[in-house]
Order: sequence, then structure tokens, then C-alpha cells
Amino acid sequence: MPFQNTNLPFFYFPSLSQFPFLRHAVFTRLGGYSRKTYASLNLSYDVGDDPVTVNKNLNLVKQFFSAEKLIWSRQIHDKNVLVIQDEAKPPYEGFDAFVTNRPGLALLVKLADCQGILLCDPIKKVIAAIHCGWRGNVANIIAATVDVMEKEFHTKPTDIWAGISPSLGPCCAEFKDYQTLLPKAFWRYRINGNYFDWWRISRDQLMAKGIPAKQIEIAGICTVCDTRFFSYRRDGKSTGRFGAVIMLKGEESCF
Ligand SMILES: [Zn+2]
Repeated sequence: MPFQNTNLPFFYFPSLSQFPFLRHAVFTRLGGYSRKTYASLNLSYDVGDDPVTVNKNLNLVKQFFSAEKLIWSRQIHDKNVLVIQDEAKPPYEGFDAFVTNRPGLALLVKLADCQGILLCDPIKKVIAAIHCGWRGNVANIIAATVDVMEKEFHTKPTDIWAGISPSLGPCCAEFKDYQTLLPKAFWRYRINGNYFDWWRISRDQLMAKGIPAKQIEIAGICTVCDTRFFSYRRDGKSTGRFGAVIMLKGEESCF
């Protein structure tokens, strides 16, 4: 997954970059204003960081995208999907995925080991951003989001392109209590004792909805191992959240 080391460093999915009407980025912890354990691009108000500084960080992201609005929610590790068709009124509460066909709305999910999954239907010009930790996989928020794209926007799953952000890798995803935490259907993803491959689980959940394997890109970067990212497993409660963002460009914008 290529990395752009600019003032506001970010990773991107080459497969999603092929669409000229789309912008997306997976940011890191670099390039923001927060200090100490939140240094520096913490995008969450809910982790103990100074809210004025978080606001400045969110504005950096909004400006980076030249977005009309930055859309985000207090995420709750469930499978509630918010469709934004008309007027957007952030902030939202209790949604872990957004779907829209409106240009200028930058959909942000906040991450520290969880997966940010970005979806694009280039035919109907519909996008989605999903926050998916292991609870999201168990609830299958991936299926819930694709269902909403089909129902509300007539997306064909075979048209969807997907990117799975840097997140908890199989190297670090130990689930000692997997027999009580995880449904039996997930046990076959167990590797090396009690470690799980959540990237493969998400890929399989995307494919089960009809998204072709060749249209699914996995960043393959573990946020526990790579210190450019915030990691809840590595750093505990007093750490920040980085962002994965996707937006349809406005017709008049020229970047
Ligand atoms: Zn790792």
C-alpha cells in the first residue's frame, strides 16, 4: 500500500485511485497537533485528548479533502449503517458505517486496530466507509453495508471495489477466549494457536456478498507492529484514533 509522506502523510489504495471522481486516504498518527500519547493526528474526542486540538486535527482532514462536510459518528462496534441522501447533520451517534452518493461529503471512520473498509460502486457512484473491529465482523456490518447500497442505490455487488485499511494483523491478533467470544464459523480462521486472520475474515465477508476477489485490496499493514499508527492493543486506553476517509468529488472541483 503506497505511502505519501507530505505535510499530512497518508496511505492509499491503488485500486481505488483509478476512479477520477473519487478521493480517499488512510491517515496515520503523523502530521497533527495533539501532544504526548495522542501525538499527533488524533481524530477522536472520546479518548481524553484536548477537544480544541482534536477539532484542529479534524479540520486538517476536512481541508485535505476540500470537503463540504466531514461526516463521522461515535462508533459503537455494532452494525448500524447511516445513509446520507439529503442534508447531512453531523455529528452522529451510534453508527459504524456511512453510505452516500452525494459529492463533497467526506466519510470518516476512526481507527486504532479496527479495520476501516472503504467501498466504491463506480457505476452508480455510491461510496461507503465502514468501521469494523472483531465485533463488527461478528455482527457482519460488511453485509449490512452492502445490503444498504443494494437497497437504497441499486448497487450491484459485482461492481463494488473495496479497500481494507491497516489494522490488527494476524501477527498480533491473539484471542485467547475465542471459544466464548467468537462464533464457530470463525474458528477456521485461527492460525498459530489462538491468533486470527481478520483480514481474511473481512475479505470472505465481502466475497460472500458477491464482491469479486480481484476488486478487494488488503493493505496488509498491522497497526500494532507499525508505530506510525495508533494501536489500542499496543498503547492501551490513552491513545488516539487515526482516520480512513472516502469522498465523491464535487463536479466543479479540479484536483
Ligand atoms: Zn502485528
